[in-house]
Amino acid sequence: MSSNIAFHKKQLYKMYINGQWIGDECETFINVMNPATNEVIGMIPNGGTPEAKAAVDAAHLAFKTWSKKTADERSQLLMKWFHLIDEHKVEIGTVMTMEQGKPVNEAIGEVNYANSFLSWYAEEGKRIYGETIPATHPNKRILIRKEPVGVVAAITPWNFPAAMITRKVAPALAAGCTVVVKPAQQTPLTALKLAELAEKAGIPAGVFNVVTGKSKEIGDAWLKDSRVRKLTFTGSTEVGKVLMRGAAETVKKISLELGGNAPFIVMDDADLEKAAKGLLASKFRNAGQTCICTNRIYVQERILEPFVELFKEELSKLKIGNGMEEGIDIGPLIDQPAVNKVNEILDDAIHKGGKIVFQGDKYEGEEGFFFPPTILTNVNDQMMCVEEEIFGPLAAIATFKTEEEVIERANNTVYGLAAYVFTENLSRAFRISEELEYGIIGLNDGLPSTAQAPFGGYKESGLGREGGHHGLEEFLEVKYISIGLN
Ligand code: ADP
Repeated sequence: MSSNIAFHKKQLYKMYINGQWIGDECETFINVMNPATNEVIGMIPNGGTPEAKAAVDAAHLAFKTWSKKTADERSQLLMKWFHLIDEHKVEIGTVMTMEQGKPVNEAIGEVNYANSFLSWYAEEGKRIYGETIPATHPNKRILIRKEPVGVVAAITPWNFPAAMITRKVAPALAAGCTVVVKPAQQTPLTALKLAELAEKAGIPAGVFNVVTGKSKEIGDAWLKDSRVRKLTFTGSTEVGKVLMRGAAETVKKISLELGGNAPFIVMDDADLEKAAKGLLASKFRNAGQTCICTNRIYVQERILEPFVELFKEELSKLKIGNGMEEGIDIGPLIDQPAVNKVNEILDDAIHKGGKIVFQGDKYEGEEGFFFPPTILTNVNDQMMCVEEEIFGPLAAIATFKTEEEVIERANNTVYGLAAYVFTENLSRAFRISEELEYGIIGLNDGLPSTAQAPFGGYKESGLGREGGHHGLEEFLEVKYISIGLN
């Protein structure tokens, strides 16, 4: 399945600004690591303020022409990019596995998911409709136009190196905006691969730029620049708050996709097999490192034992290892601090009475950052595994007695991104879905993300939505034209 791309320690990748590949002249470089082997797989330029500014110069200039193209012209270019990504999906997936760790089949799956935003928004960009509104005065007309906001800055995380970029860039470009992107330092090579294909597709210079390097310096340069009219960010709540404060200076529009603490509720009338499979998908995708990954599992007391047995059975089928090898389901975590954090969370739980009822084999093959899939029971709400985002393959199971109790416990968090409920009772399903203070509900569904639906959180999980027509609105201004007739 994997393509035969060679990775060289000393290979220097360049960033993409104004249709040019630049960066040799940077004074320092950042090593990109393979988390499965802890080896260097390449280097990227450690850019900063000058490169951040050059990217905005380019995007600002390109906006003048890109925003004036017809939706159809933009759509055709987005579709060319889509087809090139599709042709190169194995290559992109391989790059992703090398820098991020997820198994190569899962990485190719992410490329398909990432690409679905391009094809969906290539179409949806044609349906940016205005409005006419009946006026109070007979000699007035009210006209509403939707216009692209301008230059967009996108800052993205390492857990979905391709999809977090296209989920922002596709609607932005379809709306007529131009974009400057800063990918995570851990996973810049996937972003640069996407840029290479954007260039090949004929996306004009300056429309899509990728700047690599110093996060804070690049972020600050974009926050201060009043030409950047929109900031779209996926990452931690902590950094999201810093960026939100910074965006206030120039009153930018903002979209934030931040942390989550997803509850997974299994009611006693649930189809347990379906629930166990749903939990496996939602908990162990990307080794537990997604913001909508299940964090806390609440199982109704009466069905704890049969459910845990089924879940163990499912989990024991998963194979941990280097994602470049065939048949691997769980790759490494992103780095050593990530492994340390999951260990700390596990130790805390055990100290407070938690019990390990299953632990997969430790993977000793290489020097990478592996953590064995683990199931913990006897969990209570005072444990770190309930209060904090685990971001690892540790499934923490607590029990509950009543529907009211579980709703209250599930909502008892500052986060509100995704929640999962498994029940076969229709009334219960509606009641619980409506009571949960979350932006996304997986009702008998462990994998709710899709291009046409709005993804985003309540409370401290963020602002705005990505995906669907809601995701396009985020990149549009509303202009009201009041017309006086003779
Ligand atoms: P994660 O925990 O997923 O690494 P972060 O919030 O730390 O999440 O990082 C998400 C993205 O934000 C990355 O691209 C990172 O480089 C960037 N980032 C981190 N700190 C800042 C900052 N102060 N200003 C701008 N970008 C930042």
